[in-house]
Amino acid sequence: MTAQLSAIRNLLIDMDGVIYRGKMALPGAVDLFHFLQEHEMGYLLVTNNATRSPRQVADQLTSMGLDVPESRILTSATASAAYLATIAPAGAKVNVVGERGLVEAIEQRGFMLAGRDAEYVVAGLDKTITYEKLLTASLAIRDGATFIGTNPDKTYPMENDIAPGAGSILAAIEAATDVQPIVVGKPEPLVIEQSLQMLGAKAEETAMLGDRLETDILGGYRAGIATILVLTGISTAEEAAVYPAPPDWIFDDLPAMLRAWREALGER
Ligand SMILES: [Mg+2]
Repeated sequence: MTAQLSAIRNLLIDMDGVIYRGKMALPGAVDLFHFLQEHEMGYLLVTNNATRSPRQVADQLTSMGLDVPESRILTSATASAAYLATIAPAGAKVNVVGERGLVEAIEQRGFMLAGRDAEYVVAGLDKTITYEKLLTASLAIRDGATFIGTNPDKTYPMENDIAPGAGSILAAIEAATDVQPIVVGKPEPLVIEQSLQMLGAKAEETAMLGDRLETDILGGYRAGIATILVLTGISTAEEAAVYPAPPDWIFDDLPAMLRAWREALGER
């Protein structure tokens, strides 16, 4: 893709490693939101985390000094519920393997929570997973329920450790049923396509901004939008240089990106 920064009118933004790290906003995060407002650009925060609701995410951002309305936050839970609404009739029975963020998203779309008799199983990270939950989901799928996964992340980073993520739970259900889930979160294009729809954005005027090649950058690449990697999180410049779906732009951090962007717009 030979996109110009000046042509980008909409930005899909990953959170962890991009606008914050741990409990701290990263340098340039506050300026990023000013920049987007100042230029009347569309944006969404797109996260694979399905355990928290958009409200909880917005509250967390506020505690870091980042004011982002709930309506600008798309979690893989709300994206999965929105996807389900495109394939399932209203009031369909759904078995949920997941936490509050996912349960709320499914209920808010008017679906009925169900057990083995569910017509759809939506699974994501569940830190209170039990054999009973795996059994119910697996039996529903064996009975013909459609299997949807919030996000494919096999692990996620904790302070000093690597913990099993949603992908590990999906793998357990897949092993028990021989059915592969339809996955909604990055790097699957479903969540990106949904973001474009929510923003009323054209693909050629939209970029995905993230810190991880195999989710953010690959997701944007697959959905046919421009991609921007910042080096404040997981992936390095060396990894990006040999990645088969290379980002269109790589910046050390948000301040470097904003400087280049303003320059591209002829502002400095
Ligand atoms: Mg990230």
